Amino acid sequence: MELATRVMQVKPSVTLAIDTKAKGMRAAGEDICSFSAGEPDFNTPDHIKRAAQDALDQGKTRYGPAAGEPALRAAIAEKLNRDNQLAYAPSNIAVTNGGKQSLFNLMLALINPGDEVIIPAPYWLSYPEMVHLAAGVPVIVPTNAESGYRITPEQLEAAITPKTRLFVLNSPNNPTGMVYSPGEIQALAEVVVKHQLWVVSDEIYEKIRYDDTPHLSIGAVSSPAFERTIISSGFAKAYAMTGWRVGYLAGPEELINATIKIQGHSTSNVCTFAQFGAIAALNGSQDCVETMMMAFKQRRQIMYEGMAAIPGLSCIQPKGAFYLFVNISKTGLGSLEFCDRLLGEKKVAVIPGKAFGADDHIRLSYATDVETIQKGIERIATFVSSI
Ligand SMILES: *Cc1c(COP(=O)(O)O)cnc(C)c1O
Repeated sequence: MELATRVMQVKPSVTLAIDTKAKGMRAAGEDICSFSAGEPDFNTPDHIKRAAQDALDQGKTRYGPAAGEPALRAAIAEKLNRDNQLAYAPSNIAVTNGGKQSLFNLMLALINPGDEVIIPAPYWLSYPEMVHLAAGVPVIVPTNAESGYRITPEQLEAAITPKTRLFVLNSPNNPTGMVYSPGEIQALAEVVVKHQLWVVSDEIYEKIRYDDTPHLSIGAVSSPAFERTIISSGFAKAYAMTGWRVGYLAGPEELINATIKIQGHSTSNVCTFAQFGAIAALNGSQDCVETMMMAFKQRRQIMYEGMAAIPGLSCIQPKGAFYLFVNISKTGLGSLEFCDRLLGEKKVAVIPGKAFGADDHIRLSYATDVETIQKGIERIATFVSSI
């Protein structure tokens, strides 16, 4: 069958094979420890669910504006002003079907065929594929453990060509768990401004940070930086709302209006009553975030200490998000073989780093219970010593 060229360039997900296999094994009654989840294991907090239920009861079941419910756009603008010192008005906000659609709409609105998009690796696996779908060219800049998996201003500057249009920044980071310091963000902002690039800052893990690690949004560095910044975020990770599909894009009005035009001809508005849940998430008590953070913090410590103690593996303590990124190069195995064998021999599911542009690493999610983490680490230790 002859398919469109745009889809031929998109790679199938390498995580899917492991995931399907793990699910099949669990269904067959096997005792699987899974660290593959890219989502919190908590339920959505009750007050958020209740707000969506109330909205349903009140008949919020019809089409709404493609840009989002006015009250939600206002709540998001207020949050960005209050928490991030970003001077956005409601007209600078588009409500999207998750942080994923916000990035996708942005690529379609900003990227012309052949435009280059700089993506530091390890990266969230959808970034390069979204660039391909927009007929752009992903320019992957590898980082390593020595720089804490963070791109330096020198690396960014060296990757810029006359075709560079956009730089994708993700802090706290999936898959590495690293957080850029305010000084590092300032230095990157200077490069963005000097070369008049656009930067999209994916801040979906903003609230999931440990040890009081500060978070600086690149748009808050200076007013020239603000003018070149687009923020992508959402409710999935901080409020355990992955299935709700609510996110947002914030940026210059002209660009936001272009993304709304695209959304108006594709998905239209985000599920109306889900948006009322998101309003409650922003305007209600933030204690639920604190409670989830305490659990993540304990699990992070157990997983990091357990994995760091395994001879032959190395990792850096994560500062944010809920992933541990582990270097497996001393085992001599590529990440696909490592993950496949670990699952087959020890019933532990982890994600191969190849999916994130780092084939000598694996990603473990600690968004799961302590007992599973302890059991899984023991199994991984036995596996590594057997290689
Ligand atoms: C989960 C995630 C997103 C978006 O998730 P949605 O469920 O679409 O809101 C975006 N970026 C990164 C890095 C993520 O891990």
